[in-house]
Amino acid sequence: MSQITKQVAQYFPIIVCGGGIGGLTFGLSCTKYGFKPLIIDQAKEFDSKVGQGIGLWGPAQMALKQLGLEKKLDEDGRVMFCAGYRSKQLDDWLVRPSNRIDRLTSCLCLRRGTLQKTLRESFPSDQLLLGKRVEQIEQLDNLVRITLNDGTILETSLLVGADGLHSKVRQSIFPEIQPRYAGYSYYQGVSNNSELSNSAAFEAWGAYRRFGIVGLKDPQCYWFAVGEHNISFFSQSDGLIEDEPKSSKTEVISEQEKEELLYYFKDFGKLANQVINSTKSEEIVKTPIYELPKMKEWSQGRIVLLGDACHAMAPNLAQGACLAIEDALQLSSSIYQALLKESRNRNLQYSFEQCMKETDFVKNNIISNYVQKRRLRAHIVQTLVPMVHQIGRLDGRAEQFRNAFFKAWSGKFKTFIFDKTHQFCLGWSYTAPNLGQGLYTRIIGPNFYNYPKGLVDFHINKPKQLDSKQISVDFNKQSCVAEGNCTIYSDNNYFVNAVEKLLQLPQNMNNGKVILGVTCNEDGSELWYRQFINSCGQVNTFDSLQYVKEEKLYEEIFNFVIVMRLEEKGDNRTFYHQSEGIYFKIPFTNLKIKIPQFLAPKIKAETIGTENGWKYNVELSYLNGKYNVLTYKGEITKVQNNY
Ligand SMILES: Cc1cc2nc3c(=O)[nH]c(=O)nc-3n(C[C@H](O)[C@H](O)[C@H](O)COP(=O)(O)OP(=O)(O)OC[C@H]3O[C@@H](n4cnc5c(N)ncnc54)[C@H](O)[C@@H]3O)c2cc1C
Repeated sequence: MSQITKQVAQYFPIIVCGGGIGGLTFGLSCTKYGFKPLIIDQAKEFDSKVGQGIGLWGPAQMALKQLGLEKKLDEDGRVMFCAGYRSKQLDDWLVRPSNRIDRLTSCLCLRRGTLQKTLRESFPSDQLLLGKRVEQIEQLDNLVRITLNDGTILETSLLVGADGLHSKVRQSIFPEIQPRYAGYSYYQGVSNNSELSNSAAFEAWGAYRRFGIVGLKDPQCYWFAVGEHNISFFSQSDGLIEDEPKSSKTEVISEQEKEELLYYFKDFGKLANQVINSTKSEEIVKTPIYELPKMKEWSQGRIVLLGDACHAMAPNLAQGACLAIEDALQLSSSIYQALLKESRNRNLQYSFEQCMKETDFVKNNIISNYVQKRRLRAHIVQTLVPMVHQIGRLDGRAEQFRNAFFKAWSGKFKTFIFDKTHQFCLGWSYTAPNLGQGLYTRIIGPNFYNYPKGLVDFHINKPKQLDSKQISVDFNKQSCVAEGNCTIYSDNNYFVNAVEKLLQLPQNMNNGKVILGVTCNEDGSELWYRQFINSCGQVNTFDSLQYVKEEKLYEEIFNFVIVMRLEEKGDNRTFYHQSEGIYFKIPFTNLKIKIPQFLAPKIKAETIGTENGWKYNVELSYLNGKYNVLTYKGEITKVQNNY
């Protein structure tokens, strides 16, 4: 970033203080929308010591998928399902999750350095200012002025504080909020042990201590040991509960401290001893854990906080970085949605800088939307995190009672409750915010950009001022029109005829014309309007609402909801949908009843990208594909902006 000069204050619409996991993810998602934030970080190099391994739960993975990083990170890590809890002797499980990995409860475990490196390398280097510290922050009438440690002055319309636990940005707006010591430290290391790397992850509970192992990419495994005592005293006396540590920094431990650590965890079974022993002391780090209280306010004026800066918490549920990633996507999405709305309201050409300079717009349309969408989720996790340590640390009778209590429950019921609590903590039915490019990008990720131009245009069209009498598309929203051909074959029986009548599909049609109008709503759902015109000029229309939830594609037709699983084929240009169930929505309620399998047709569809559009083939069948009742296929050949 050599262009920045000290003499003249330079303006950037968005400045991010902190290029850690949250700041970089925010920066990357902004670039997907075409905004160019400047990220400033005091460190020249990222500190790979903090947190040797890191676990990213389903929501964070979904968010990273939107940024095109999921595949790369998958290759460098291991996806596991949730860890179970064990007693300290490691002889028994107290509670285990079900061994079902789904999108929400899967956890991608990898080296923290790998995640940070991937994020940093994916972000444009000319928007990254490294080795510079934000020293002063001043909020003026219509902008924020910041001064760096070398005297450089920068101005911005939106300052994002992604500067972690000891956030300078937070101190500038809420000086009364201070991190507090949680009362324990995390010791962490990575050991090479293929057997452990491939076995089930766990956390064991003993008096004032917890110990866990999580598999990383074979043969590595990540271990952590949590203790309330100052171990230097423990080996000499009866063990003192540690007062507030002198420094909150992560430090490498000495050989002597490693010996003390081994002694401190000697009653945690052979396994604990073995992994600690096999890790060199210079590769073991200690981090005293600090937390923030639940903050009611996350912003002031044009300054907003993200990640640890507003909800730093102990890593007991491996959620801090996940929440920072989710925050990042939400904030960039709130900016995009606010701009989209504004450009429609004023009938303006999309003007980013103009909107960002208006204080009310930034405060009321962007920041309040972001805070409202994120705060409750963070507060729930902040409430649950200390409980894990409180339950895990129990001693003596309380420990015995806890273990007996867990063992007394039936396995299935316990697993059910555990899975549900876990889901709750992970955001229940979290779906990463739509990055604005339409459903297909959202489902198949950035591979969408490898699709032919026609198909991409179709899904990322800009608002148009056109009017069309022929087809109902809301041109005030993101929308577009396409056309192609369609052939329909169906069985000529009462039942199929009734379905066709209900859906307003033509009964057989050979190489007729199909016109599509798609309107993209703010929540990312798309209204698809289809018009079929046969060779005699007879017109049939059929509309549906499509959206994605928990990475499944939903299609609503009248009061029926079809839930489809989506598979992508290796060449990135072909994908399949397959129905998993059809539901009936009871009017005026949120209730849905599943249609029995023998009544609901199985729907299989295939879409193949072509030069200007795509080919499609949809089949409806009964008895698990044995009895084909309807085929609907053709090609979309024209995707036009100026229809
Ligand atoms: C032992 C341990 C294990 C953990 N394990 C997990 C886990 O498995 N899963 C999980 O989700 N989370 C985990 N976490 C939590 C996770 O590390 C944090 O929540 C996450 O790093 C927060 O990201 P952030 O971007 O908000 O802040 P940070 O990662 O702290 O980044 C802040 C950045 O701001 C920069 N900065 C600070 N001040 C300034 C300034 N004045 N000027 C310029 N730059 C500045 C810093 O250099 C830094 O790069 C763990 C934490 C610990 C301590």
